[in-house]
Formats: sequence, structure tokens, C-alpha cells
Amino acid sequence: MRSSLIGKIEKSRIYAAEHERIRISAFACEVRGDNSSHSVCLDGEELRCDCLFFGDHGICSHTMAMQRVMHDMLPEKLQPSHPVA
Ligand SMILES: [Zn+2]
Repeated sequence: MRSSLIGKIEKSRIYAAEHERIRISAFACEVRGDNSSHSVCLDGEELRCDCLFFGDHGICSHTMAMQRVMHDMLPEKLQPSHPVA
């Protein structure tokens, strides 16, 4: 393996461990709930879910789950106010 690639791999380990280096601005995923699966997406600073509860309340267990998974990598306004580890 070329030495330059070895250096890149090592740097990627550091970046992956230091979440403050990463700010996610968009993603789409499926969260498998107890009853059915729901689509959650992030677009800029807007986190949305296609479930009925989110439609009524603007928050749901699926969006909150993704906030816990991605906490410090989300835009600041979407980061949970309490540590989630
Ligand atoms: Zn939902």
C-alpha cells in the first residue's frame, strides 16, 4: 500500500473520532419503528419525518432517535440540549 494512502487512512480515523469536525447538512434515512418504518430527512436545519405524530407535533420518536444518533454532528439548533450518550 502506498504510504500516502496509509496516511489518509490514519487521518480518517482521527476525523471519525472527532465528531466536532463533522457537520451534517442533509441526509435521508428510514427508521424502523415498532409498528412501521418512517422516512426521516434533514435538509439544512429542518429535520422532518413522514409519520402522523410529526405532522401534528413537529417532533416524533423517529426524529428524536436521529438526533440522539447524530447529536453533535447536526446543525446546532437540532442538537439535543442534554447529553444523549
Ligand atoms: Zn416520526
